[in-house]
Formats: sequence, C-alpha cells, structure tokens
Amino acid sequence: MQRLDESIRQQLLMDDQSIIGRPFPLAGENARVVQANTRHIAIILRDTAAKDRASRAAGFAANLMDASVGQHLKETVACSRGCFHCCTTYVSTSVPEIFRLAREIRGRAATTARVVAAAGRAKAMPQLQREVNRVPCPILEDNACSAYAARPLVCRAVLSTSLESCLRIFQQGSPEKFAAPPSLGALRSYLLIMLRAALVLNNLPYRNYELTHALEIALASADSEERWLAGEDIFKDVAVDRLDLEESPLTKIVAGLAGAVGPTI
Ligand code: SF4
Repeated sequence: MQRLDESIRQQLLMDDQSIIGRPFPLAGENARVVQANTRHIAIILRDTAAKDRASRAAGFAANLMDASVGQHLKETVACSRGCFHCCTTYVSTSVPEIFRLAREIRGRAATTARVVAAAGRAKAMPQLQREVNRVPCPILEDNACSAYAARPLVCRAVLSTSLESCLRIFQQGSPEKFAAPPSLGALRSYLLIMLRAALVLNNLPYRNYELTHALEIALASADSEERWLAGEDIFKDVAVDRLDLEESPLTKIVAGLAGAVGPTI
C-alpha cells in the first residue's frame, strides 16, 4: 500500500483534530469524518508502547458512540436503571471491547465467578438457542450493568422506545422487531466498521465473539491483551458470532474503508 507524502499525511492529521471524537452525521457527506475517526483508532492501535491499546481503541469508539447517540436520538426511550430485559440475550462483542470490559471487572471475584459460570452455559448452547433463551448477563448486579462505562457498543445501541414491546419479546418470546430508534443501529454499524477497519490496518483479526466465554478467556491471565496484540489467537476456542462466519456486505465496506485510510497513516 503506497503511503501519501509525509506533508499531506501531517496536514490530514491536523485537519482531523476538529473532527475526531465529535458526533458524526449519519447521512450525506460523512466519508471524511468516518475516515478521520478510523485513522485515529488505527493510530491508537499502532502505539505499541501502550499495552492497553486495544482497550483504548474500544474506549474511543464507545465515547464516539455516546456522543453521537446524544446528537441523533430524537425519540423518547423507555429504558431506565433497573430494567435489564435486554441484558438476557446473546451479546456479540469485538475483541477490543472484551479487553476493555475485562480491565473494568478484573479483581472483582464475585463478578469473575459469574462470568465463568455463564461462559460454561454459553459453551453448551448454540448461538441460535442462546438468542432466544433468556440467560442474565453475569455483569448484572442489582438488575443494573455493573460495568456500565465499559459496556460494549451493542449494549450502548440497544435502547427501546417501548417497555411493553420489550416485555413481549424478552418475557413472552414474541418474534416482533425490537423497538429501537433506527439511528442507533446505524451508529453501531458505523462504529463497528471503523473499529474493524482500524484493526485491519494493524493486521489484527476483527471477528466478534460471544461475550461471556471471550471474557472468561480475557480474565484468565493478566497479559491476555498483550498476547492477543502480539498475534496469539487466545480466542481460538470461543464461538465466533454466526454473522461473522461468512462474508457479508460489511466485509467489503470494512475493506474499502481500510483501503482508503491505509495510505494516510
Ligand atoms: S455488559 Fe452490561 S449492558 Fe451489556 S448485557 Fe451485560 S449487563 Fe447488560
């Protein structure tokens, strides 16, 4: 991949400063903003002196998601602390998010024990079954997320405009569509694409995994993030999200974004 001239790359980085981390438009000409944020995440991941650079990349993506949700969410949501119906389903998580979550709960013995128990159940249950069986997330405490600041993008994106609909889905097994504001799904897709393109640009794998088993692996050793960043496939025994098992339109978008940003870093 041919890099642009140093002066052009430096100018781009300077121009990026007014864009990165700010709420981004979902429609219209947002390619420049998406590329700037992807470049920033890729540069975070390139900082080999930082042993927690994957966690940092996830943290940047989470903050960008929150800022953008604040900008785009126009609907009134029904969610509130203590309402945890959606925390009982399959959670698909990227590796940087898994490490960020592991850093948040490492040292919490009771939470870790619940993660290990939940991972045992997850390993014994195919994903399609896990998506309909209601199994509470092991990070829940007093019916609230005990790692709220470090929760994955998908958890940030799951807000509902209807408690009644959530009760039908999560308590009665209704097949109806989750009542999420459309902007949230779009924001999560953008963030996932940016994060994945940044991982590609650092020769790191980007498939999502089932949360609890992956978290068990991440928590099992203090240097799990460093080992993964060094190329060790520590998640080889964890089930990959079924949506990542085959090529999807997302794959091409990620490759296109990585191809556009690669020459600029
Ligand atoms: S990580 Fe937190 S928000 Fe996400 S499912 Fe678990 S308890 Fe719920």
